[in-house]
Amino acid sequence: MSILVVGSVAFDTIETPFGKAEKVIGGSATYFSVAASFFTDVQLVGVIGDDFTEEHLGVFRDRRIDLQGLERVRGAKTFHWSGAYGFDLNVAETRATDLNVFADFNPQLPESFRTPEVLFLANIDPELQREVLSQVERPALVALDTMNYWISSKKAELEKTIRQVDLVIINEAEVRQLTGDANLVKGARAILDLGPRTIVIKRGEYGVLMVTADRIFAVPAYPLEVVFDPTGAGDTFAGGFLGYLASGSDHSEGRLRRAIIFGSVLASYNVEAFSLNRLKEIGRAEIEARYRAFRELTEFGDYDATDVS
Ligand code: AMP
Repeated sequence: MSILVVGSVAFDTIETPFGKAEKVIGGSATYFSVAASFFTDVQLVGVIGDDFTEEHLGVFRDRRIDLQGLERVRGAKTFHWSGAYGFDLNVAETRATDLNVFADFNPQLPESFRTPEVLFLANIDPELQREVLSQVERPALVALDTMNYWISSKKAELEKTIRQVDLVIINEAEVRQLTGDANLVKGARAILDLGPRTIVIKRGEYGVLMVTADRIFAVPAYPLEVVFDPTGAGDTFAGGFLGYLASGSDHSEGRLRRAIIFGSVLASYNVEAFSLNRLKEIGRAEIEARYRAFRELTEFGDYDATDVS
């Protein structure tokens, strides 16, 4: 099964309480593709400038990532995001968003990209997300992510895109901003009312909440002692989650739940270092080990009536 992602390939400048990184590789599609490629074939649609060199492209090499849809614009610079985190690593403060090549990006999908089983519209302009959706044959599953930048600048366009997708992956502050509801379950229901069947809410160190019309599933984040840089955690989560889902055709509740764990496992590794440095080091064995650790973390069994007499 294949998965298509459209999103940013970027340089990030990041400051956390533990260090600084200047113009390191980032971007929603970058984190997503690398995470998803542990499970399935990925087709990446995005744009870069001259400054994103062959060496930078090495991050995608030797993985199941097809770069035919990664356009290079000559004489222009790659998208650049600059952000900072305080001791509350759940809240990113955006210092600068230099759209550069993104300002005039008009994705044209190669022919071989037009029939993906799963489509992930990562965090980019909601109008561009719809443009990509219009170029593919309807996939079995379409998922979308977004961020505060688009909710404040293009809310109506974003709602229009949300009406056309099956699954929304969004963080908790964005649920509140988008729906005006302080309560996450009510906020999720308001988004379900727009049309999607499933809402996956990312809650940073508090984990993930998945809400459908009749069920709620919750998992904590893996309790790490070292969280170095949360940048990309959301996209890495989405990559693990949708990559695992796209590796089979079953999108049942049980498999969605296991996919949430795989997404959480990948995200937990990603936050251990800047950029994709930690993701580059791990393999199947690390992923499986932490999947088992998650099981242990959340297993409590049924209680026996004699326990409570
Ligand atoms: P997250 O997974 O939510 O931490 O996303 C982090 C990534 O999103 C960074 O690597 C940024 O390059 C990228 N990003 C930040 N702002 C934007 C934006 N307005 N459009 C597209 N990508 C962005």
